Amino acid sequence: MGTKAELETAVRNCRACELHATRKNAVFGEGPVPARLMILGEAPGRTEDETGRPFIGRSGKLLTKLLDGAGIPRNDVFITSVLKCFPPNGIKESYIESCRPFLNEQLRQVKPSLVVLLGRTSVKAVLGLKDGMSSLHGMTFEKEGVNFFVTYHPSAAIRFPWKYGKTIEQDFKKIGEIFSPGADMNPPVSGGMK
Ligand code: URA
Repeated sequence: MGTKAELETAVRNCRACELHATRKNAVFGEGPVPARLMILGEAPGRTEDETGRPFIGRSGKLLTKLLDGAGIPRNDVFITSVLKCFPPNGIKESYIESCRPFLNEQLRQVKPSLVVLLGRTSVKAVLGLKDGMSSLHGMTFEKEGVNFFVTYHPSAAIRFPWKYGKTIEQDFKKIGEIFSPGADMNPPVSGGMK
């Protein structure tokens, strides 16, 4: 799995869990390697499964809008999810563990200065934090030399716009400030690891 192409082939041929039997396409992720910013979702949805591309359904459209609003070109960001295959019956812990080596290798290759974790599943899978999103969102964490920023998954803002719409926009504005040219991509860590 030394290069991006080798890793992508390994993901597309993966049979480590049962999701390989139901997927139409594995969703590796897309964007430049290396990249200053990486976005990590939870799992591909149906549209992503159909096309093999990350975040192109409804959540993806909102994600693109949020990045635009923060002054971040989507093409400058490496976008992927914790799971690389669509889970038709929901996300299981065992799927996350099967996929973890791919994520670790992507982090090694992409070398992001900041990783945005979208939603609880990503936060729990990567940081091991189980606190509610209302206390974690907008915070930065450092783990094994990588900086992570926590916010809601766009799907939460689609389902409950009155509750999360403004908050997620504000979080992305913060990400835009961290990302802006010349800015220090090592923001002060605001959340302590437990
Ligand atoms: N939601 C995710 O977490 N990832 C995708 O690729 C699409 C929707």
